[in-house]
Amino acid sequence: MFDLVLGTNNAKKLIELRLMLPAEHYSLHSLAEIPDSIDVEETGETFSENAVLKATEQAKHLGRWVLAEDSGLAVDALGGAPGVYSARYAGRHGDDEANNAKLLSELADVPMEKRTARYHCEVCLSDPDGNVRITTGGVCGGVIRTEPSGSGGFGYDPLFEIREYHKTFAELDLTVKRALSHRSRALRELLPKLRRLISQQ
Ligand code: IMP
Repeated sequence: MFDLVLGTNNAKKLIELRLMLPAEHYSLHSLAEIPDSIDVEETGETFSENAVLKATEQAKHLGRWVLAEDSGLAVDALGGAPGVYSARYAGRHGDDEANNAKLLSELADVPMEKRTARYHCEVCLSDPDGNVRITTGGVCGGVIRTEPSGSGGFGYDPLFEIREYHKTFAELDLTVKRALSHRSRALRELLPKLRRLISQQ
């Protein structure tokens, strides 16, 4: 069993991360279970800088292996916004409803064919000394609807349509999100590297 701290406070992200990391091989711990964990400030300018910060700072502080991710939405018609500011686009961190309302208003005059977007996820594994050991990334393309639909997922999922399904991530079953999402793609790339690293420990 490999002991791994998942460096996020987002309960929905945790569910998605746990789905990808087999419980028979990994003993997973969330930050909520670790009272002396710290809140790492996301001061990076890119997803990958923030993922590295969240993993290495937490790992050094706890003296444990930490897997962290940073993710967000990049909308073409908005020049890649909200990007690294996805969680706090409308001001308050994690206010999904306000973020979605702001996104809709920013795109009010943009026709459907120009509402293309991509979710990005960058993942970083840090060893207990704060050294980056693995980084991987994943992307998932879609279009931004003109009104929200569905109650699953989180964040921008009610607005994010997967073209092939004609449904938003919030309407699709979590098994579909598990197959297609930016987070899953990043983790699928990470897993063989992680297995190799563990076998060398
Ligand atoms: P952070 O990685 O904690 O900075 O926040 C990521 C933010 O990006 C979330 O609060 C969401 O607004 C958005 N986001 C990232 N991944 C997803 C996803 O899978 N679905 C919907 N929104 C997401």
